Amino acid sequence: MHLDAWLPRAAALRPDHPALVTAAGTTTYAQLHAAASAAAAALAARGVGPGDRVALALPPGEPFVAALHGSLLLGAAVLPIDTRLSPAEREPRTAGAAVLVDEPLARPAGASDPPLRERLDPGAVATVLYTSGTTAAPKPVELTVANWQWNALGSALALGLDPADRWLCTLPLSHVGGLSILLRSAIYGTTVVLHERFEAERAAHALQHDGVTLVSLVATTLQRVLDAGAEHPPHLRVALIGGGPLAPALAARARAAGFPAAQTYGMTEACSQVTTSLAGEPETAGRPLTGQQVELAPDGEILVRGETVARGALAADDWLHTGDLGALDARGRLIVTGRKADTIVSGGENVAPQEVEAVLLAHPAVADAAVHGVPDAEWGEAVVATVVLRAPADGASPAGARTPHTAAAAAPPGATTPPGATTSPGATTPPGATTSPGATTPPAADALAAELRAHVAARLARFKVPKRIAFADSLPRTASGKLLRRALR
Ligand code: AMP
Ligand code: MG
Repeated sequence: MHLDAWLPRAAALRPDHPALVTAAGTTTYAQLHAAASAAAAALAARGVGPGDRVALALPPGEPFVAALHGSLLLGAAVLPIDTRLSPAEREPRTAGAAVLVDEPLARPAGASDPPLRERLDPGAVATVLYTSGTTAAPKPVELTVANWQWNALGSALALGLDPADRWLCTLPLSHVGGLSILLRSAIYGTTVVLHERFEAERAAHALQHDGVTLVSLVATTLQRVLDAGAEHPPHLRVALIGGGPLAPALAARARAAGFPAAQTYGMTEACSQVTTSLAGEPETAGRPLTGQQVELAPDGEILVRGETVARGALAADDWLHTGDLGALDARGRLIVTGRKADTIVSGGENVAPQEVEAVLLAHPAVADAAVHGVPDAEWGEAVVATVVLRAPADGASPAGARTPHTAAAAAPPGATTPPGATTSPGATTPPGATTSPGATTPPAADALAAELRAHVAARLARFKVPKRIAFADSLPRTASGKLLRRALR
């Protein structure tokens, strides 16, 4: 495979086209190429050469992108570091890196320019990214130039490609979901609208007014942009929703709002997307991208192989064993049902937490839900849930008022919930009704827990109904929005 270096190619083809739009302004491809060349000179002056690793601890912005491409122009690999990690957390990750970049790079005075790559070596490691580590500890994954090139191809064939595309990125760049937007857009020569962090109002504003055609979200941020009124964004072609389960209730809400959501299933080890649904049909995770293959093991585990999969992640049988469980529908579309390690075995029955969470999330009073197992003398494990209730403010905002998730809708006919329980601020998160063991639960929360259990019992087998429901203000999530179910155990 002959590959022109990504950024120089885009800069030659579209020098005046915007590469990057940030709070600081717009950077054209020619400008980004100049900034990346300067970054490469700075890195070379610090001893970086081909095959080295450059640890990058910069916030999302032009200096990050310049350092990313500057490293690639030297034949070095980039290891992005979440800037929120403490020095002790960074240390094991940066140990093998030639340098740690934690300030914007500038061309060193008087230094001669290093030789820059005009072509990329397909087999060279381009990035080292850590997995989210929701089951085991986060682990580093080496992805090559060829892995990324195939991801860009497969993604474009799935989503379509428009030279005027503008991809809104609000995900951390230390995660594959965010970094992949930067690399794909450089390969395409299209524009990234880069936010330093996810802010619902700002994201909704960008969707309405910044000509955004593509956006990557997770379920919680999708919910928040919809709450912020981002319905029918004028230019949006596809909103990729991934990184975790997309509950049917939220998929239905996006569809009803005319929001072109597509569900994607992916992971660090496969350069992000493995399967993707069509825009506006987010109920399944869709079909494999070009170059990818998905099969189910006899126990339902999702197995992946293909051109985007990190060589180091393959098992002896040459498949990536994802640890996720799934099913394929009649049209070959993937339905992700949960993670193997999260399966609760209660009284000999297997319970997938995601299925119970989806039912809880369909209740109008529920904003977020996590289900997990706790040791139980009688059942082996007991199913328990932690629930975040919709804030009354949701119903008060104009956007929230258009949704069915208002306090008025929260009381189904005959519900035992006292009228105040979902409308008065104090009652929705009663003091003491937290996850702390032994907390006394006030009667309002008791009644709501009973109602939620009845809601589940009406829809699922008895052994799946949570024995206990606790209420919390929020659920523990990773920087990329993943539920840390193990933190609840
Ligand atoms: P990461 O560690 O960040 O690479 O996360 C990859 C994991 O995210 C996968 O192994 C899944 O457990 C989860 N995930 C990604 N996409 C989906 C999806 N569409 N539905 C459910 N889980 C998903
Ligand atoms: Mg994983």
